[in-house]
Amino acid sequence: MQNLTNRSKVVSDKKMTFLEKIYLPAILRGMSITLSHFFRKKSTISYPEQTREFSKVYRGQHVLKRDELGRERCTACGLCAVACPAEAITMISAERKPGEEHLYREEKYAAVYEINMLRCIFCGDCEDACPKEAIFLTDRIVSSQYKRQPFVYGKDILVEPLDPEKRIDISARQTDAVRKFKENKKYAHNK
Ligand code: SF4
Ligand code: SF4
Repeated sequence: MQNLTNRSKVVSDKKMTFLEKIYLPAILRGMSITLSHFFRKKSTISYPEQTREFSKVYRGQHVLKRDELGRERCTACGLCAVACPAEAITMISAERKPGEEHLYREEKYAAVYEINMLRCIFCGDCEDACPKEAIFLTDRIVSSQYKRQPFVYGKDILVEPLDPEKRIDISARQTDAVRKFKENKKYAHNK
């Protein structure tokens, strides 16, 4: 019969030798493989005591940025949610009221902004789509949880703290090329 793949093996039913019957060579071969691993460089680390060095452009937990006056930059335009291939972002917009100019940069803001971290694939498309420099991925790891609900991150987790000392540094993610593109008002994306 013709083989369908070149990986098929013809099974023989030859009689086992004495050594094969007592499995000794097979056990010794297995032990030698195990022993050889003792002398190899470990490919694992003892996290969390040890951590690996992250790439500068590692994409981890998102941050919703504030501007230099501490106002939320997000204007709830929804572009990040539209761009998200995992449909992980949901939001409810609201209109800024008189007297709230110190809280929100634009006339419209996200009253609710949620990212489902279990759906997110950390592709960074939301960051690329944002015309307001409001959402960035950071080098922070999304912490593990025992239940699903805590993985839905709301504004309480996503918006960066007001304290200038505790702001989230995203400078590594703002390459010159991206910054120049986003500053150029001739693109509809940036208006
Ligand atoms: S990183 Fe990608 S998958 Fe995650 S929320 Fe942003 S666009 Fe969606
Ligand atoms: S694209 Fe930016 S400004 Fe628009 S809703 Fe998303 S984070 Fe907010």
